[in-house]
Amino acid sequence: MDSGMPYTIDLDPVVSLARSQGYRRIVLQMPDGLKQYAYKLAQRLSEDLPGVEVLIHMDHNYGACDLQYPQLWEALRPDLIVHIGHSPYPADISSSIVEPRGRGPRILYLPALSNSYPSRGAVEDAARLLLGRGVERVGIATTSQHVHMVKRLAEDLSGMGFRVEVGRSSRPYLSEAQVLGCDYRLHRSMRVDGFIYLGGGVFHPLGLYLATMKPVIKLDPYEDRAVDLTGEGEKLYRVRLYKVSEAMDARRWGIIVGLKTGQYRPWLVDRLRRMMERHGRRYILLASENLDRETLSSIDGEWFEAYTVTSCPRLPTDDYWDYHKPVLTPGEAVMALRGFLEPYLFPW
Ligand code: SF4
Repeated sequence: MDSGMPYTIDLDPVVSLARSQGYRRIVLQMPDGLKQYAYKLAQRLSEDLPGVEVLIHMDHNYGACDLQYPQLWEALRPDLIVHIGHSPYPADISSSIVEPRGRGPRILYLPALSNSYPSRGAVEDAARLLLGRGVERVGIATTSQHVHMVKRLAEDLSGMGFRVEVGRSSRPYLSEAQVLGCDYRLHRSMRVDGFIYLGGGVFHPLGLYLATMKPVIKLDPYEDRAVDLTGEGEKLYRVRLYKVSEAMDARRWGIIVGLKTGQYRPWLVDRLRRMMERHGRRYILLASENLDRETLSSIDGEWFEAYTVTSCPRLPTDDYWDYHKPVLTPGEAVMALRGFLEPYLFPW
């Protein structure tokens, strides 16, 4: 389906599944950037599936880690949650709390594939920036919206003389070359000089820099231009090191435990607890679904000297980098507890 949308979203799998299973209630869930098209999707499904109730989930949605599955199940009892625009969240970095005892709704992940590919001029600019950073072996990184264009980009770059690496897929989770804001494992293991990131914004490419410490050139299909984000990555890295060094003397910590479906990580919480005990630190566990400044400030008594966030590791780097106490990712907390500044551990 396109209907004037800048993304292609194929609703046929939803229609087939709902018909074959006799579903009566479907919830549509998507990130904020796609919500303006939600009514079109709901209308199309209602036309194709008479008698089926289609609801749009309005709350913010930050990723497949954020299904809000128990809440939807308890309140609405849907047969199906259609999660659009993200691939399934990797099971090995979350705890599997979906489909409790097999009773809950099924989840269907639908890609939203971007219809834009950068112009030849923008690709050539990206090639120049890569060469300017001394990159000859280049790895491709992207998000789920652009995975279908990775082959084309690889061919374009090969045609310009680069040796191109495409990280393998970890299906059913990540496609070839795909990154998440909290999962760069495919790219960390690649033997390349630097990366080209196909996509918009700075969230994923800056995370890629922190995870790999290699040059990152963004090729933005929305703005049709190439940008070297390496310098911005270096700046962010320096801020993070400062935060780690600030936290080295902290004796009393808050360990923030995530309550979202994919952000509850008991294995990680336990690892940090054990490490704090070994290093003579005290801690209090703080459980939170949506961590914002107001929530953190309200709990932030003088007892706490530092925090680590086990839910979304981008909260410390993107939202709390200027908080008056150190708020660290789990990897940074390990660095502070062990008293080292390198290697930089990101994000876990
Ligand atoms: S970076 Fe944060 S919001 Fe994005 S997938 Fe990871 S945990 Fe979820």
